[in-house]
Amino acid sequence: MTNPLLSDWNTPFSLAPFDAISDDDFAPALDEALAAHNAEIDSIAANPEPPNFANTIEAMEAAGEGLDKVLSVFFTIAGADSNPAREALQRDFSPKLAAHFSAISSNKALFRRVAAVWDARDSADLTEEQQRVLMLTHRGFVRAGASLKGQDDARMQAIMGRLAELGTAFTQNLLSDERDWFMPLQEDDLEGLPAFVVDAARAAGAEKNAGGPVVTLSRSLIVPFLQFSPRRDLREAAFNAWAARGANDGETDNRAITAEILALRAERATLLGYDSFADYKLETEMAGTPAAVRDLLMAVWEPAKARAEADAKILTDMMHADGVNGDLAPWDWRYYAEKRRKAEHDLDEAALKPYLQLDRMIEASFACANRLFNLEFKALDVPLYHDDCRAWEVTRDGKHVAVFIGDYFARGSKRSGAWCSAMRSQAKFPQEQTPVVINVCNFAKGDPALLSYDDARTLFHEFGHALHQMLSNVTYDSISGTSVARDFVELPSQLYEHWLEVPEVLAEFATHAETGEAMPQDMLDKVLGAANFDMGFQTVEYVASALVDLAFHEGAAPSDTMAKQAEVLEELGMPSAITMRHATPQFAHVFSGDGYSAAYYSYMWSEVMDADAFEAFEEAGSAFDPATAKSLEENILSTGGSVEAEDLYKRFRGRLPGVEALLKGRGLAA
Ligand SMILES: [Zn+2]
Repeated sequence: MTNPLLSDWNTPFSLAPFDAISDDDFAPALDEALAAHNAEIDSIAANPEPPNFANTIEAMEAAGEGLDKVLSVFFTIAGADSNPAREALQRDFSPKLAAHFSAISSNKALFRRVAAVWDARDSADLTEEQQRVLMLTHRGFVRAGASLKGQDDARMQAIMGRLAELGTAFTQNLLSDERDWFMPLQEDDLEGLPAFVVDAARAAGAEKNAGGPVVTLSRSLIVPFLQFSPRRDLREAAFNAWAARGANDGETDNRAITAEILALRAERATLLGYDSFADYKLETEMAGTPAAVRDLLMAVWEPAKARAEADAKILTDMMHADGVNGDLAPWDWRYYAEKRRKAEHDLDEAALKPYLQLDRMIEASFACANRLFNLEFKALDVPLYHDDCRAWEVTRDGKHVAVFIGDYFARGSKRSGAWCSAMRSQAKFPQEQTPVVINVCNFAKGDPALLSYDDARTLFHEFGHALHQMLSNVTYDSISGTSVARDFVELPSQLYEHWLEVPEVLAEFATHAETGEAMPQDMLDKVLGAANFDMGFQTVEYVASALVDLAFHEGAAPSDTMAKQAEVLEELGMPSAITMRHATPQFAHVFSGDGYSAAYYSYMWSEVMDADAFEAFEEAGSAFDPATAKSLEENILSTGGSVEAEDLYKRFRGRLPGVEALLKGRGLAA
């Protein structure tokens, strides 16, 4: 019998036959799919015909169909509905997949053919999109080191192996420091803490067998402890332990590891012919160069610092009025900021929640997509991997566009956070395929299910990614939907959050679960006001981290990363009561792997664009202006990675974004 993962999916919309798949099917299906993909790659590499776009690049695009099917199902359920068997499979699959893809990118015969097609590109008759796919494929090989020879090639392999080891060690050291430290609390230490923090401290104490409540270094416990505990001595002790993660001497110390990682990355960049690792990394991003990143960060830094310094004065006065003398310290900031928030923006979450029903917010996200892009959503009854999943058919003018799946509720088998993925990407080659897109969230179940304001924003955010996949209109899978630069990919999602805040949207959809009444204006004002609270602090801790990350990867690698960090912060004039959001020995974005190294700035890069892009609608006089919506779809949501991100943005806006809209959005404008 054919493995159901690899059989023809004769189901509605060719969805994966979830009801026919069992966990035992994955391992044999993966082996079969990997072997099939290897055979395809080998025959492309060994093709006796002279290399051309069709027999090399398009052949690679078309290869691996079985692998796509197996992995799309496996990674969907491994993230959203895991179990011990699936966890074990994941541990088996990770090294197998890493080895598989690294063998392809270091396949010299295959690279020779890609390079030959690349060299002959001017005389080949290629469409704009084909030229782009060729450039990206060739660049991917070169960046992975495929053109290195002899000793350089061997050295690159050694560097990559060592970097993988160091990244794992960094992560494990950090986890172990976070796991090992805790501070017991006496009953009277709990005074002033809200019930949810007391509960969390007791639960943590029970887990540690500490015989009473404790504070741990888990972000979800220590941050509220720092916000609410009136005991300055306890806040100081907890903060110092938190700040020391990865820098406690002994076996779990990350400081030397960070220096070795930076040195190896710099060497890797040199081997590949780049001036620095930042130059290498930013080549594929919209920002393009370290100078462009620095310009953005510095344009935000000065106004953010000015706001933080003004806020520090207010908080210091509050502390002095509290009978505590001296300077505001990092362990004081969150506590006095929370007191100030309560005084200025007291928002009763319990009163707000009944206005934010999950089903109404889903309707709101669909209704906005209908007004903007004429999309229609019809509930589908199809077998999925969990009873909580819901599916809709998405159509336009009666024509099928996509299948959208929503898996909204938290459960033990789901990893934390929220994400969007395409189980099938839009493409027209080798044949027409329409997207199957899934949003996964972690909202609390209820009857009716009610959201916090943050939850509702998350729902709109992930749906913005889904639109980027569903409206995609390109030929090749590899550049479809969200396959764009890292500093561009959050534009559609962050942009879509703006429609939640459009007054007419909330007026229509934020209705009370029992009375059906619309959210009162003063509550709406408070929600929107609180969103920008303490933005000086938040921007300073983020931008400082991004600037240290950038400095680490420009020029020669520092031999002492802590000294380099101190030097950068000194030059910036870092406010004394604020620390980096992620100090070097804890900066997992940058040191656990390559993902956000020299790229921590990218969150803010996207935010600059989403603020500026939404202004295009405001300037046109309506959040639903049809011409602006059409341009957004044509130039950004349908184009995937088929065009350079900078050009896409210019086509939409007529120019590149400035930081003004972001500063205004964060309440930091002069
Ligand atoms: Zn996102």
